[in-house]
Amino acid sequence: MADLKSLRCPCGFEVRSRDEDEIVRIAQLHARTIHGQEISAEQAKALIQLVA
Ligand SMILES: [Zn+2]
Repeated sequence: MADLKSLRCPCGFEVRSRDEDEIVRIAQLHARTIHGQEISAEQAKALIQLVA
């Protein structure tokens, strides 16, 4: 099973999943709807951290 990963936005929003692609999708949706910003999959992936 894949490791649990998380992406935390500076606004306090956090998404956790074992599916990196799902985290990227949710992060992109969050950035667009909440912050009005488009982020690339690469930018989102760079922010993903392993949950210890
Ligand atoms: Zn945010």
